Amino acid sequence: MGLDRLTFQPYSADGAHSAVRAKLQAQPGVDFWPHETFAQLRTKGDIEDCFAEHYQDAHLPTLTADFRANPVGHLVTMRCAPWHARVGDSTVGLIGDAAHAIVPFYGRGANCGFEDCVELDRCLDETGDDFPAALARFERRRTDTDVIARLALDNFVEMRDKVGSKTFLAGKRLEHALERALPGRYVSRYELVSFSTTPYSQVERRVARQRGLAAAAGVGAAALAALLVRRLRSG
Ligand SMILES: Cc1cc2nc3c(=O)[nH]c(=O)nc-3n(C[C@H](O)[C@H](O)[C@H](O)COP(=O)(O)OP(=O)(O)OC[C@H]3O[C@@H](n4cnc5c(N)ncnc54)[C@H](O)[C@@H]3O)c2cc1C
Repeated sequence: MGLDRLTFQPYSADGAHSAVRAKLQAQPGVDFWPHETFAQLRTKGDIEDCFAEHYQDAHLPTLTADFRANPVGHLVTMRCAPWHARVGDSTVGLIGDAAHAIVPFYGRGANCGFEDCVELDRCLDETGDDFPAALARFERRRTDTDVIARLALDNFVEMRDKVGSKTFLAGKRLEHALERALPGRYVSRYELVSFSTTPYSQVERRVARQRGLAAAAGVGAAALAALLVRRLRSG
């Protein structure tokens, strides 16, 4: 299969497990097993054969017992509304994965939950600690969590289909060169999402603006170069 790296995600709090299969040499990209693949493994032989075929180099002495003792994890995008409701005399609200679980391909789920805490705290400040009003206001965060949910799904396609493409890699190299040449002015989407506090809903707009400017600058430079060449030839 050309496997040269294998990652088993650690068991999560509820004991679910999932495996990431990275095929970096023969076929770059990342595969996530469809849920049915695990569900079909019923006997000890099925389980051992599957892991022996796909994860030859993994040392899993208690594989069958572990596999049977832990449910297979689902990677899902969760969209629900509203995030708060009145229950009797109380108002209850959802934050974190309970409100907006996302697939893990951008690695932002936990971070999103921490950002929820910051935003909820801001809402509490704005409403003078009126919890029901703060929870209602907190729902504005959906504009950001919807974006990161989409980016996380997009990133799966990128990891699966594009990381082996020369055009894609050339684009990434150009982007890194622009980041180095214009520090703080040209910042990649990944950097903005992962290492800044720019709200996710603003990241897309900023990236589109940067790319537009970079493309315009590229066209301008090419036109200038063509003009210079023509002048040199004619004169
Ligand atoms: C494979 C994988 C890889 C990931 N990688 C990353 C990553 O690299 N970076 C990142 O930022 N995020 C990552 N995430 C996402 C991250 O794990 C979640 O976004 C984060 O754990 C969500 O935190 P939470 O507190 O909202 O929910 P949870 O961590 O799910 O916490 C909810 C808690 O509530 C408990 N609970 C549930 N029901 C009840 C009940 N009825 N009564 C009492 N308790 C209950 C659960 O047991 C659990 O402990 C990944 C997720 C997966 C599945």
